[in-house]
Amino acid sequence: MHADSVNFPPELITLLRGTSKLVALTGAGVSQESGLRTFRDAQTGLWAQYKPEELASPEAFARDPKLIWDWYAWRREAVKAVRPNAGHYALVEIEKKIPEFSLITQNVDGLHRMAGNQQVIELHGNIQRVRCADCYTFTETWEDDIESVPRCRKCNGLLRPDVVWFGESLPRDQLEAAVEAARTCDIFFSIGTSGVVQPAASLAFAAHNRGAAVVEINAEPTPLTPKADYVFHGKSGEILPELVKMVWG
Ligand SMILES: [Zn+2]
Repeated sequence: MHADSVNFPPELITLLRGTSKLVALTGAGVSQESGLRTFRDAQTGLWAQYKPEELASPEAFARDPKLIWDWYAWRREAVKAVRPNAGHYALVEIEKKIPEFSLITQNVDGLHRMAGNQQVIELHGNIQRVRCADCYTFTETWEDDIESVPRCRKCNGLLRPDVVWFGESLPRDQLEAAVEAARTCDIFFSIGTSGVVQPAASLAFAAHNRGAAVVEINAEPTPLTPKADYVFHGKSGEILPELVKMVWG
C-alpha cells in the first residue's frame, strides 16, 4: 500500500487534534523498516545453530558468557549500521504536539532515542547499555577482550547487555510506567507489533477497556485487530508521516 492511498477517517483526525494524552507502543516491525533484522532473522552463519534462548537467557550466560557477549557485540554492530526511519521521526513530531505523550517500545535498539524522542519507556532494555550481571552497576565504557568477557570495575562481576532475556522479568519501573500510561491515555497506538508478546500485548487491551481509542498500524492483522477502533495495514514509515501531515500539517 502506498501512503497516498491511506484514508484517515475525519473523526480520527479530530480526535488526534483534541487529545492531551497519547501512548504509542512499538515493536519489531518499526525496526525492521530501518533494515534491522529481527533476533531470529539475524541468526545466520555460526549463530544459526542456536535456539534463541541459547543466546538470550541467564542460563546460557552462566554456561558460556563469552558466546553470549559475542552475540550481543555482533547485534550491537548491526544496530550501529541502521538509522531511524520516517516512522520514528513521525513519532518525534507527535511527541512535540501532544501534551502528555509516552512511547513504549519492545525494541532494544535505541532507535527512538536516536530519532529524538524524549519520553521512551524501554520494556525490554537497550542493547547499547551494559551492566554488571552481579551488582547491576551500569557502565558506558569497557575494554573489549578477545579472550574473555569484560568485568565490572566495582565487584569484578561479568558485564552483560542490559536487555531482558528469556525467563527474566521486565524492569519493574518501566513496566509500571507503561501500565499507568496505557490505563490513563485517550488514544493508544499499537505500531509494528504482533500483539502476542506479553505483557506488552495486554497494554492495548488495558487502554481499550478504559475507553481509549485504539489505533493499530501493522503489516498484518493481529489478535488486537478485532478490538482496534482504527486499523491501518502497511508500513508505519509511510502511514505515520502521512497521518502527522493530515492532523498537524
Ligand atoms: Zn558489579
